[in-house]
Amino acid sequence: MGRLVILGGGESGVGTAILGKQKGFEVFVSDKGEIKEKYKKVLEHFEIEWESGEHTEAKILNADLVMKSPGIPDKVPLVKALVEKGVPVISEIEFASKYTDATLIGITGSNGKTTTTMLTNHILKDGGLNVGMAGNIGDSYAKMVAENDFDHYVLEISSFQLDGIVDFKPHIAMITNITPDHLDRYEYKFENYIASKFRIAMNQDKDDYLIYDADDEVIQDWLKKHPVQSKLLPFSVKQKLEEGAWLEDKTIKIKLENKTLEMSEDILALEGQHNVKNTMAASMAAMLVKVRKETIRQSIQSFQGVPHRLENVLKINHVEYINDSKATNVNATYYALDGIKKPIVWIVGGVDKGNDYSELMPLVREKVKAIICLGVDNSKLIDAFGNVIDLMVETFSMEEAVKVAYKVAERGDAVLLSPACASFDLFKNYEDRGDQFKNAIKNL
Ligand code: ADP
Repeated sequence: MGRLVILGGGESGVGTAILGKQKGFEVFVSDKGEIKEKYKKVLEHFEIEWESGEHTEAKILNADLVMKSPGIPDKVPLVKALVEKGVPVISEIEFASKYTDATLIGITGSNGKTTTTMLTNHILKDGGLNVGMAGNIGDSYAKMVAENDFDHYVLEISSFQLDGIVDFKPHIAMITNITPDHLDRYEYKFENYIASKFRIAMNQDKDDYLIYDADDEVIQDWLKKHPVQSKLLPFSVKQKLEEGAWLEDKTIKIKLENKTLEMSEDILALEGQHNVKNTMAASMAAMLVKVRKETIRQSIQSFQGVPHRLENVLKINHVEYINDSKATNVNATYYALDGIKKPIVWIVGGVDKGNDYSELMPLVREKVKAIICLGVDNSKLIDAFGNVIDLMVETFSMEEAVKVAYKVAERGDAVLLSPACASFDLFKNYEDRGDQFKNAIKNL
């Protein structure tokens, strides 16, 4: 079997170690940072050799195969040295997929991956299928392959995971949308990031499917220039399509192969146009694996969404409080502002990843009555919107931001936390930011 070296002792690394050991590899896990206690215990339990706080080259360069955690960039010297030596460096999804015959549904995109993955899993489960959900969500895929025998996997897949595939071939692939993100890992070239996302379809053949957003010009342009083998299933909220999913008279219509499905837009438990799209994508996947129409309809009605993604928190004095803390880029916030049909008191800010706010300007002019900046440095927001919005307030804690919002908001308004920025200046992560928002509301 040979020597499997795993760089990165987090969820995907430890999962790969378990699967590798089970398949007879000599496994070594190396993490330059600190491995969490809970993972150390797992490694000890499976008698897997590991090191933490350093990379001992002599124990790494002799690998036959390396699994690199998605957090480690290709440009680090150790990875370069491995590649130069001709050692294959792959990702967890590549490794784990070799050891399962399950039907794979792979979901990638800049925004909407988690929501669409969870919704697809929810429908397949309601349809009685033996399905596992993995990827960036919950337990690692490799660990699930080691410990279960699922017939289907719904996988949330980042571009970094896709960079490390060789033979990975989902039967159903989805690209929810592509907007600039993580460009620091792609030599600041959007083209490279797009190419990375499309790797999800690179091993597909004519019996496989690619579900994608036909309203996304980036995707459409790319497909024109780089045709894929897979059968294309587009979805659109703007135009009627020959095949795929589209919106007509507030009804979602789906036609694929010789099947059709219609559902009123009103039955969706989730709000916003982006969730109509996510629903279209998930429903098509469910139809392809033969979930019954009635089950799909019922399942969509009962899906309550994912915390921190346009999550309705509370209504106080006829003001709606909405937590969209996971909106860490401009595109995600665009959909939040677009989807809410009320005057908005908008809490925004954090670590700006090079945002261009101009895309939001029409929506802000139309809907936003006050902006509450919540970040260490709010100057870019003030520059962008200072002349457009009469009421702009700077705050430096969630409690303060929510208190100001409470004062400013009037009957019929919505208070929206949709930061368009990362959370690391004032919070541990986006979950912490969203939880603090919810707590502050409950303490009002
Ligand atoms: P990801 O896993 O890709 O980060 P999430 O489902 O966690 O995606 O959603 C991230 C943010 O993007 C949330 O603010 C959510 O409301 C928004 N969002 C969800 N689906 C879409 C979509 N199809 N297009 C644009 N934004 C979306």
